[in-house]
Amino acid sequence: MSATIQPQPGILQIELYKSGKSAVEGMEHVVKLSSNENPLGASDAAKVAYAREMHSLNRYPSSDHIELRTAIAQIHDLDADRIICGAGSDEVITFLCQAYAGPGDEVVYTEHGFLMYPISTLAVGATPVKVAEKERVADVDAILVACTPKTRLVFIANPNNPTGTMISGRDMARLAAGIPEQALLVIDGAYAEYVEGYDGGTALVDKLDNVVMTRTFSKIYGLGGLRVGWGYGPRHVIEVLNRIRGPFNLSSAGLASAEAAVRDVGFVDKCRKENARMRKWLTLALLELGIECDTSFANFILARFADEEQAEACNQALANEGLIVRQVAAYGLPNCLRITVGDEASCRRVAHTISNFFNAVL
Ligand code: PMP
Repeated sequence: MSATIQPQPGILQIELYKSGKSAVEGMEHVVKLSSNENPLGASDAAKVAYAREMHSLNRYPSSDHIELRTAIAQIHDLDADRIICGAGSDEVITFLCQAYAGPGDEVVYTEHGFLMYPISTLAVGATPVKVAEKERVADVDAILVACTPKTRLVFIANPNNPTGTMISGRDMARLAAGIPEQALLVIDGAYAEYVEGYDGGTALVDKLDNVVMTRTFSKIYGLGGLRVGWGYGPRHVIEVLNRIRGPFNLSSAGLASAEAAVRDVGFVDKCRKENARMRKWLTLALLELGIECDTSFANFILARFADEEQAEACNQALANEGLIVRQVAAYGLPNCLRITVGDEASCRRVAHTISNFFNAVL
């Protein structure tokens, strides 16, 4: 008997998300530089908090996340009532689409934007509208032109993944002021902590009624495995998102570890500085090898090769040395490799392997 049940229209248009590889066949020891994870791991304070949770695994976790929200609010000087926590910022993005978009609505995002935006959009039956960038940087004017009376959400990651580029606070404010009144601007700050002195968009959220920010514990906090993210927005938006949030959407271990992690500002500072140091080093090394890269504000570098074939061959050369990076064809950049900034030894190995690759080709 063949199944006649069909998914909602739109679901079959979704291309399966393929995450960064974590293994090379036949190789035991690899360095994973494909998912923008923190090479320094998580802070000791977060690990201690995680271990403590072992004694109460039978208990349901907090459903209102008050301890974590309070910690985030204290550290970032925000209102805890206007914070929502999700299983990764992915879940907050999903909540936003579920709450604000549906069939007939449009969700705008940038050309080389995070793949969860179109996925979550199609999942709710809405239409993703992809807007061209200018030299791999979001084009505010083009985004504004793409907005229509059907636009409900506008997603922009700042810094953006996989390009690593940013737009200025001024441009972001112009975007927020220019989008239609029935739309929300979502500033995705997954990599915001890597930018010295950047507030991730919080000032704009505080000033306006139509701006939401999303953040994650998966990157600089080194807690990708625990799935914790959060959003900050106007009270009316957070109230709406809480209506569709499952009561126990985060684990007790995730909540406790994230709370300890956000309070460990010394660790975050150390990671930001170390990332900046090695990002600069690796960028220069790649440029010296003749590989073009934009200035990255995040914890990865987008290396642009002559063509897709060359990028693929270099990807393979790196994999042969146990160095896993990501060819970002799914983001419309098939001639590019996105390389997470690893520790010093890994960065040196990446540069050395790419140098050998070019020497062998020449
Ligand atoms: N936004 C951007 C721009 C990202 O790159 C990622 C992770 N790849 C996320 C959101 C989601 O991160 P998480 O769900 O782990 O918080």
